[in-house]
This record gives sequence, structure tokens and C-alpha cells, in this order.
Amino acid sequence: MDEPLQRCITSVGPTVAALMGAPYEYGTDAPHQALLTLAGAKTGGTIDRAVIYNPDAVAWWLYEKYPAKFAKAKERSDLTLRLTSVMPSVTPVCFASMYTGVQPAIHGIQSYTKPVLTQETLFDALLRAGKRCAIVSTAGDSISKIFLQRRMDYFIYPTVAAVNVKALSLLKKNAYDLIVVYNGNYDSRMHAKGPESGYALRALEANVAFYRRLVDEIRRSCGGQRVFYGFCPDHGCHLIDGRRGSHGLDMAEDMNVVHFYGVSDGRE
Ligand SMILES: [Zn+2]
Repeated sequence: MDEPLQRCITSVGPTVAALMGAPYEYGTDAPHQALLTLAGAKTGGTIDRAVIYNPDAVAWWLYEKYPAKFAKAKERSDLTLRLTSVMPSVTPVCFASMYTGVQPAIHGIQSYTKPVLTQETLFDALLRAGKRCAIVSTAGDSISKIFLQRRMDYFIYPTVAAVNVKALSLLKKNAYDLIVVYNGNYDSRMHAKGPESGYALRALEANVAFYRRLVDEIRRSCGGQRVFYGFCPDHGCHLIDGRRGSHGLDMAEDMNVVHFYGVSDGRE
């Protein structure tokens, strides 16, 4: 069920902020109406917690071409959306836009660099409202760097496996209002061997499998709480010479991403 007008990934942060009653101070893209409507139908409109899973480089075309590989993600979500990324479609630029809610020209990361953002982010909006936030990510990656220097917790590990174990254990402890989890394994494998190589597709399957575990843990651990969750990649990818993969261009393969969203109403 897509919204008629395809929205940008800049709608993600403002949507979560609106649902948690903690709007940004500065102007951003508007929240995504389909997601507000979903939360309204399931919880009356506000949520207690959010869990955002950020697998890197999962393009919309992968979802269209390999729907069976996404079946478990779709099954555990209420909505599947095609969103537009931002240019240049590279990781730090895109995640900066997702969490600031603004275009690159405004937040300032306009190339593959990873400075700490000074622009207001979702984390800042939630922290101001007294919410507890955590990032769980791999060392050296964009999400581990550009959102530093906030009064929140950063769990940075050398491997995706360690990140995912920690994310599940944090969920069980119920210690955060927002948890952001990053996995870059599909991205690194598709760069090395191509987006449709078995090597890369196995990482894609692992991303979907982890999202499924995450949602199951949300439903198990968050009894009585209303939790908004999403599978939210930053940009897509395409095949280049030498059977390798790339992204960063203003083309449909790089700019259209598949997002899944759901709301657990605490009764499941
Ligand atoms: Zn990326």
C-alpha cells in the first residue's frame, strides 16, 4: 500500500518524532502521512518507543525482483513503502538526511565524509523531550560517527554479529525509547561481488532474518508498550563493470529504497 506521492527518506525522522510527541525545533520534511495513519489505527496515534533497523543499500528493485527474499519482513510489517533517497546517494549523506529530516544542502554532508552533525537530529529532538536513545553500530561506519556528541549511548562493535546480539539484548532490557541498529553487510558484499551475487544476496537474507528476530523480540519484550519499528535502508545500488556494485548516482536503482514499517500495540 504505497502513498500516491512517493516520499523522501527525510520523512523518517520527523515521523518518529511526531509519533513520540517530540517534534524538531527547526523546519524539516513533514511526517509520512501513511505512517501516522497506521499508528493512529493501531494505537490511537502516539507510541511509547521506536526501533529503527538500518540495513545499508537495500534497493527497491531488489524487493521487486526477489520478493520471496523479503517475505518474512513483509509478514512482520504493516506497510511496505517505496521511498526516495537523496543525492549524492552515499551512506553518510543519506543517513544524515534520514535523521535530520532535511536535504543535504541544509545538513551539510554532501559527499562521502563523516563529520559530527551539528544540525538537529531525531536524537536531539527526543533527548530534549527526556527520551533515552541508543545507537548500535559497527566501528568506522557513518552511523557510528555522524551522530556522536549527544547525551545518549553508543554501542559500537567490530562485527555485524556483535551489533545484532547487543541490539536484541538491549530490547530485552527495555532501557531505551529509541534504538537505531545499523548493518552494513549487504552493502560491503554488493560492492565486492555485485548486488545479485550469491555472496551479497546471502547478506540481504541475513538482514531480513535479523529484522524478523528484532520484530519478534519487540513483540515479546515490550508488553503493554506501543512500539513503532522499521526496516529503513539509506540508498539502493547497481551493478558496475567487473561484476562489482556501486551507488551514489541519480538513477532509479540507487534512489529508490524499500522500507517496511510496523506498530506493535503491546497486545500481541
Ligand atoms: Zn549506504
